[in-house]
Amino acid sequence: MKDCIFCRIVAGESPARIVFHDEQATAFCDLNPAAPTHVLIVPNKHIVSVNQLADEDEALMGHLFTIAKRLATQEGIAESGYRLIVNTNAHGGQTIFHLHLHLLGGSRMKHPMG
Ligand code: 5GP
Ligand code: ZN
Repeated sequence: MKDCIFCRIVAGESPARIVFHDEQATAFCDLNPAAPTHVLIVPNKHIVSVNQLADEDEALMGHLFTIAKRLATQEGIAESGYRLIVNTNAHGGQTIFHLHLHLLGGSRMKHPMG
């Protein structure tokens, strides 16, 4: 997707602080961090949102969580704790329509939920 900022980051065409990359997924620091650690973990292929997930994407979604776990350890927030968020469409607060998992940590989250 040429006009998708996250596809461009995955392809190396737009700058980002990449913290992980493999054949299936890429992780990079959020441009406007909402916590001391704020990493976005995205599938390399363009998936608009959770609404567009196919059955064949199950392993890929599991992979995003495994990457989150590894990065949490790497960032030193595994024990103190962190939050994983996937926003979907307007009510979920999604602003970039390439599915992504937010990894947030390094301070106590202000809102229990919502
Ligand atoms: P959403 O609101 O869709 O769940 O999250 C989108 C996230 O992407 C936001 O936290 C926003 O700060 C981040 N973001 C938007 N544009 C860019 C960009 O060009 N580069 C990076 N690294 N993050 C971005
Ligand atoms: Zn994309």
